[in-house]
Amino acid sequence: MPLERVISGDAGDEREERANWALRPRRLDECIGQRQVIEQLRIALAAAEQRHEPLEHVLLDGPPGLGKTTLAHVIAEEMGVADRIRVTSGPAIVKQGELMSTLTNLEAGDILFIDEIHRLNRVVEEFLYPAMEDFRVDFTIESGLGGRTVNFQLARFTLIGATTRTGMLTAAMRERFGLRYHLDFYEPGDLAEIIRGSAGKLEIEAEPDALRMIAERSRGTPRVANRLLRRVRDYAQVRSDGRLTIGTVESALAIEEIDGLGLDKLDRAFLRALIETYTGGPAGIEALAATMSQERDTLEDVVEPFLLQIGFVTRTPRGRCATPKAFEHLGMTPPAAVPPPAESDKGPGLF
Ligand code: ADP
Repeated sequence: MPLERVISGDAGDEREERANWALRPRRLDECIGQRQVIEQLRIALAAAEQRHEPLEHVLLDGPPGLGKTTLAHVIAEEMGVADRIRVTSGPAIVKQGELMSTLTNLEAGDILFIDEIHRLNRVVEEFLYPAMEDFRVDFTIESGLGGRTVNFQLARFTLIGATTRTGMLTAAMRERFGLRYHLDFYEPGDLAEIIRGSAGKLEIEAEPDALRMIAERSRGTPRVANRLLRRVRDYAQVRSDGRLTIGTVESALAIEEIDGLGLDKLDRAFLRALIETYTGGPAGIEALAATMSQERDTLEDVVEPFLLQIGFVTRTPRGRCATPKAFEHLGMTPPAAVPPPAESDKGPGLF
């Protein structure tokens, strides 16, 4: 059975997501971290406003929980169309007809947000091309006399696409986005500021060191940070006087089985499978998924990016390898034969 995970970057259940929703920033000025992206967006928004044009199409990519959906809503707010953003996702659009009716209902300046845009099927994707480029759709109506193509002019809308896998997007799709932004894991200092804001909104009393400790264990991810904050609040409420201290954070995270680096059971299971079953690798992602009884997508979207970022895992053409740091973190001795990480396979290093 797949492991339950408290620090999943995934949206998780609906209640969890509603709780997060209340904590999100609404305006660009309230966004913490991702400074370069925010600055570039600020300029693009101001330029579009000066020209009285809708913003060009925007592609947001990065691991789950870093704020792609949040940013889409921030853009809508900044464009003054917060109530005119339609939200859908790649797998939800099965037929051309469904997308056709969404597109033809858009008014000038509206925003269409497509989450997981890399999971659009090919037919729907190709249908979207002329809509993005020329604000036009070519729709084929089946009739007794054979197919008839109808041309439809659309209003000038802005498409915002979000993806955890920019590599899975076709080049044709990627190039139709005028604005492309990559979201990176957050620095602990930025996460600490996000958590401070969340603690304020939730009226949680906390020592600054306690909030910093949560930030350090949040895998660079605001969604995780907010989730851990609530778990620690529960613990402090039940087991002490409700105030967050270093001690309550340590105890609460120990119960959640989150270690000093913020790795959870699933991360450690991944490292263990790689080290124990495949002697440190290289191992293919399918093989690892089968060994762990997990979905390959979960491993690639949620587990691997952070382990790559902190230099615990490398990706080579022959598969994934555990680095000596990963062995040491699990209290194991790296075999002499473990290859050193190739520079090109390492993330920029967060800590
Ligand atoms: P994604 O779409 O990339 O999976 P979300 O936009 O759903 O991520 O973000 C998850 C949660 O993280 C949000 O509901 C919000 O509470 C929090 N969050 C995201 N970005 C920020 C940010 N820059 N500042 C504060 N909180 C954020």
